[in-house]
Amino acid sequence: MPAPPAPAAPPEKPQPPARPTGKPAAESAPQRALRKLGLVSDTDLALHLPLRHVDETRLQPINSLREGETGQVQGVVREARVEARGRRQLVVRLADDSGELTLRLLHFYPSQLKALAPGRLLRVRGELRGGFFGREMVHPEIRVVEADTPLPRTLTPVYPTTAQLPQAYLRKAVAGALARAPLHEILPPALLPPGLPTLREAVLLLHHPPPGTPLAALEQRSHPAWTRLKFEELLAQQLSQAMARAQRARQQAPVLKAPGSAGEGPLTQALRAALPFALTGAQQRVVAEIAADLQRPQPMHRLLQGDVGSGKTVVAALAAAQAIDAGWQCALMAPTEILAEQHFRKLVAWLQPLGLEVAWLTGSRKGKARREALERVADGRAPLVVGTHAVIQDDVAFARLGLAIVDEQHRFGVAQRLALRRKLEGAALAQPVSGGSVRAPGAEPGGDGPAPGRPKPGQPPWGVAEPEAGTGGSIHLEPHLLMMSATPIPRTLAMSHFADLDLSTLDELPPGRTPVATRLFADERRAQVVARVRDEIAAGRQAYWVCPLVQESEHIDLQNATETHAMLAAALPGVAVGLLHGQMPAAEKADTMARFAGGALRLLVATTVIEVGVDVPQASLMVIEHAERFGLAQLHQLRGRVGRGATASICVLLYTAPLSMEGKARLQAMVETQDGFEIARRDLDIRGPGEFLGARQSGDALLRFADLLQDEPLLRRARDAAAQLLRQHPAVAQAQVQRWLAGRAEFLKA
Ligand code: ADP
Ligand code: MG
Repeated sequence: MPAPPAPAAPPEKPQPPARPTGKPAAESAPQRALRKLGLVSDTDLALHLPLRHVDETRLQPINSLREGETGQVQGVVREARVEARGRRQLVVRLADDSGELTLRLLHFYPSQLKALAPGRLLRVRGELRGGFFGREMVHPEIRVVEADTPLPRTLTPVYPTTAQLPQAYLRKAVAGALARAPLHEILPPALLPPGLPTLREAVLLLHHPPPGTPLAALEQRSHPAWTRLKFEELLAQQLSQAMARAQRARQQAPVLKAPGSAGEGPLTQALRAALPFALTGAQQRVVAEIAADLQRPQPMHRLLQGDVGSGKTVVAALAAAQAIDAGWQCALMAPTEILAEQHFRKLVAWLQPLGLEVAWLTGSRKGKARREALERVADGRAPLVVGTHAVIQDDVAFARLGLAIVDEQHRFGVAQRLALRRKLEGAALAQPVSGGSVRAPGAEPGGDGPAPGRPKPGQPPWGVAEPEAGTGGSIHLEPHLLMMSATPIPRTLAMSHFADLDLSTLDELPPGRTPVATRLFADERRAQVVARVRDEIAAGRQAYWVCPLVQESEHIDLQNATETHAMLAAALPGVAVGLLHGQMPAAEKADTMARFAGGALRLLVATTVIEVGVDVPQASLMVIEHAERFGLAQLHQLRGRVGRGATASICVLLYTAPLSMEGKARLQAMVETQDGFEIARRDLDIRGPGEFLGARQSGDALLRFADLLQDEPLLRRARDAAAQLLRQHPAVAQAQVQRWLAGRAEFLKA
C-alpha cells in the first residue's frame, strides 16, 4: 500500500507561516480540504473528534474469525494472482498458523501484485465472509509489515472527513496537532464537576482510547472525557452570554417614563380605557415587567413568549404607548410585509383613534407616500413606525427611537437578528419627541399645543444630562428591545442560547377559548372532508381551507389554491367561497378578509397569508392541505385561527402518503397536543436545536459537543460556574471564551 503523504504541520494561525525562501507553500488537496472543514489551528484539529474507533490492538487467529465478524489478522501470502472471472480482480491467499483466508481486491493497482507477492507478511483488517469460494475478505485494509512491527497500543480513531481528505492523512494531522495544541488547564479545579479527567487527558482519550475503554460510553458521549469537553463548551457559552449581559448593563437607554407624572402617561391611559376587554392576569404581570424595564436607564432586552392567541398584541401596544408618552419613537417589526401588516393592524386600530400618527413602511406604501413616511420618521413627527425589519434596517433614520418591538422573533435567522441589533446599536438618540402629533385624549382635534405633561422642546424627560452642543462628547443611548414569539423557546435553549434575554411568558389564554380537536386524513378521504365542510357551513359556521403555495410549480406537486378554490366552489353549490393569497392586491385581500369576517363568505380558501393576525371567532373548521409540508410551528399557528369562539372547533390535517419520519412526527405532535410549549419541545426534538434556532443560516453549529436535550444538569452546573468564574477570575473567564468560541461568540448573542 502506498504510504500516505506526510501532513504538513498545520499552522496555528490561518495564514501559512513565512517560509525561509519567502515563497508561500502551495496548498495541497488534503490541506485545502482541511481548511474547508475549518481545521486550521492545532486546537481545531485536536477538537475534531472521532466518529468511532476500531480496535487494531489485537491480532486474531484466522480460524477464530466467524462469518460476518470484523477482525484483524496477520499472515503470510501464499499466492497472489489476477483472476479474470467476470471482471479482473486481485486474489491473495493468506495463511497463519491457524488457517487460510482469501483476500479479494476488485480495484487494484498493477503495483499491488508485486507488493503482495508470496512470502510477504500482511496485517489485514476486514469483515469475514463465507462465499462460494470459501472464507474471504473483500477489500480489507492491508498493510505490509515486518514480524516485529508493533501493534498500536490504543484504539484507532475514525474521523469525520471528506473525499479529498484521506483518513490516514487526517489521522496524522490530528496526531501532530494533539502533541502541539495548547490544552493546558486554565480552570480552577474547584469549579469542575468532580471526577473528571483534565482537558488534555480527556481530549487524548477521546482520540486514542486505551483498549478496554467502554466504546458504548464513547459513542453515547457519556464517558467522563466527554463530560469534561461538554462542560468546557457549555461554560464558555454561559460566560459569553453573561459577558454580553454585563456589557448591556453598561449601556444607557432612554428612561421611558411619562414626564411630570408618577403613573402612566395620557396615551397609555387612553389606550387602557379604549380596550374592549380586561387584561388577563398573565397580561397584567407581563405588562408590569415590561413597564418596569422601560423605566430603567439600561436597554431592555426582553423576549415575550406566549402561545398563539395569548394576546401579545395588546402588551406590545401598551409598551409602545409608554414609549410614545415619554416622547420617544417606537418601531414595530415583523419578518415579512404581510406579517407586519397583519400583526400590527389591530394595534394600530387601537392607537390611531387616539390621535397617533403611524408611518406604515409596508408593501402597499410606495413612491411618494413612502418617502413622506420616511421623512416623518426622520424628523420625529411619526411616533410609531410599522414595517419589516429589513425595511427599517435599510431605509429608515429615526429621530429618536426609544423602543423596537420585533414580532415573530423566532422567524429571524441568527444573522438577521445580529444585523438588527447592530442597526439598533447605531441608532444613537439625543432628544425626545416634543409636542407633535400625539393629542391628549379629549383634546380638541386640531388643538396642536403640547399635551399636558408632555415634554417641552429642549427639555429632556429622561434622567441623564443632555450632551452639550459642540463639546464633541455625546451620550450614546440604545433603544429598548422587545421581542415577541409564539413559538416558546424550550427551557434548555432559553438557558443556553438566549441567556442574554430576559423572558416574559404569557401562560394564560384570554377567556372564552375552546379546545380544537385535530384529525388526520389521508388525501384519498378528501371527499369526506368536503362533506364535513358542507355540514359545518349548513350549521351556520365558517371554515378555512389552507393550501401551501399559490402558483403551480413545475417541480413541486402542490395543490394550487386557485384550483382548490374552483374544486370546492363546484363541490359546494350555493356556498360563498372566497380566495385569499399573497399575490392579490392589498385592497382585494382586505376586502376578501372583511367579507369573511362579516360572514358574507362562508368558506375561505387561503394560502398561509392567514397564518397570523386573522381573527374570525365564528370560524370553527380549519382544513390544512399537504399538512406534511408545513413546519410544526406553522401548523400550530394555523390551527390557532380556530377555537376562538364558543363552538367546539376542528382542525383537519390532510396529508399525502408516504410520510417521512419527520413528517409523521410533526403530524403526530399536532394530534397529541395543543400546548405551544409542548409543540416547541417536540419541534426541538424533531429538528434539533440548530434548525430550531435558524442557526443553519450562520453556517455554524452553536454547540459541538453538548446536547441540550441530554445535558441539562451539566448546563445548570456550567451556568453556576460561569457566575463564579466571572466574579473571582475574570481573566480566566475571558481566556475560556476565547479558547472555545473565538469568532463564534457573536452568534451566541443574536
Ligand atoms: P397573539 O398572542 O397570538 O398575538 P393576539 O394579540 O392576536 O394574540 O390576541 C388574540 C385575540 O385575543 C385577539 O382577538 C385579541 O383582541 C384578543 N384578546 C387579547 N387579550 C384579550 C383579553 N384579555 N381578553 C379577551 N380577548 C383578548
Ligand atoms: Mg400576534
